[in-house]
Amino acid sequence: MAENVISPSEDDLTNAARSLRISYPTLGAPRLLSLLLEANSNWTVSEKRLRKVLQKAGLSASSNTITPSVSNNDGDASSHEYPTSRMVEHLTPSKWTNSVKVADFGREKGKGLVATKLVAEGERIWVEDPFVMCPEWELEELQRGAHACMYCTRPISLSITPPMPCKCSAMFCNRLCHARGAPAHAFLCPAQNPAAVPFLEHVRKEQWKAPYAWALFVALILSHAVKGVDSTNKELYDMLEVLRGLAALSLEKRVRVLANWQAGDASSRALWKRTHTLFVQALYKPADPVYAKKLQKLKGKSIALPPGVEDELFGYDQFLVGLGKMSLNMEAHGGLNQTPRITIIAKSAIPEGEELVVSYVDPSQDVWTRRRMLKEWGFGTCLCARCVQEAESSKAAGGGVEQKAELEDELRGFLGV
Ligand SMILES: [Zn+2]
Ligand SMILES: [Zn+2]
Ligand SMILES: [Zn+2]
Repeated sequence: MAENVISPSEDDLTNAARSLRISYPTLGAPRLLSLLLEANSNWTVSEKRLRKVLQKAGLSASSNTITPSVSNNDGDASSHEYPTSRMVEHLTPSKWTNSVKVADFGREKGKGLVATKLVAEGERIWVEDPFVMCPEWELEELQRGAHACMYCTRPISLSITPPMPCKCSAMFCNRLCHARGAPAHAFLCPAQNPAAVPFLEHVRKEQWKAPYAWALFVALILSHAVKGVDSTNKELYDMLEVLRGLAALSLEKRVRVLANWQAGDASSRALWKRTHTLFVQALYKPADPVYAKKLQKLKGKSIALPPGVEDELFGYDQFLVGLGKMSLNMEAHGGLNQTPRITIIAKSAIPEGEELVVSYVDPSQDVWTRRRMLKEWGFGTCLCARCVQEAESSKAAGGGVEQKAELEDELRGFLGV
């Protein structure tokens, strides 16, 4: 029988590799690949591709022995680092919704959304355009080839008004998209800022979306800074607040949460460092003085960003935090920026006062997989009603599930949680 063989997306492959890696921290890529293909019989993945994914996510095998990551003070919850998001003061969700408000649940849990009225099944709760669109690489290629709009990613062939060309090969589908997208695009445009080309080629070659998304975000901030960097430029500081408000967990912290074996992974670190260097040369300090002049021209009045902000956008540690933010907020099932417009529709009635939640993991996975993935993000053991109930019944059912439960306990010990 002909089986439907697919090449998994980068996110799917990374998630699957991450799950395996946590169970088999020292296994080499070939063995890991065979386990991966065993678990996903319809996948086709080359060893080379797997190695790349492992390297990018900092999941390459380490010969270091596993030691508990956190010297946990006997379950002292305050020593735990959760990724948290913060309230962004100026954000008024009423632009996007009239049935939901933002609520602050305190330091540990962060912000969330609560229904302000009874929402009927099928009702549209939320409509929003994302701050930054980070398309799949296939789509990014279509953008560069003037087949898809550089701003909204819609096919240029569907434009009813004349499309607007950029100085590079890209196109915008109309004047509105050009007005909205061209200022930020300029910083990553090969014609207007040639210093960005090596960085763009690098992330494309690596097929690595997180640094590309981070660069798009920084380019957007730079385009706001062009109007001046003093406090009268409200848009700029609002944008910085949005960035600061995104749920964050730096790669370094994720690494610590996973286990210390990460700390010795030189090849991952080398890749992060190289990517950061190219990023800085693209948007901050071009190596070539001619390119530096071009970038300076684009930046206009924003040449001197406040020192704190410069570090926030271009420092190495902040870069890793940025990559973590992009990965966390781009997750396939909790994502905010891979589609041109976000529309949320109620699949069932929501009573007034109920919290609206998103799943950071694939909700169709079993409870053990979900919990494991959440742990890798540093969220601790999920104790939501569904997880608690499914864990109980899966334990009660026994059989093959028990093995997983055991693994879970082992993992808990290994993570020191
Ligand atoms: Zn467009
Ligand atoms: Zn361009
Ligand atoms: Zn749960």
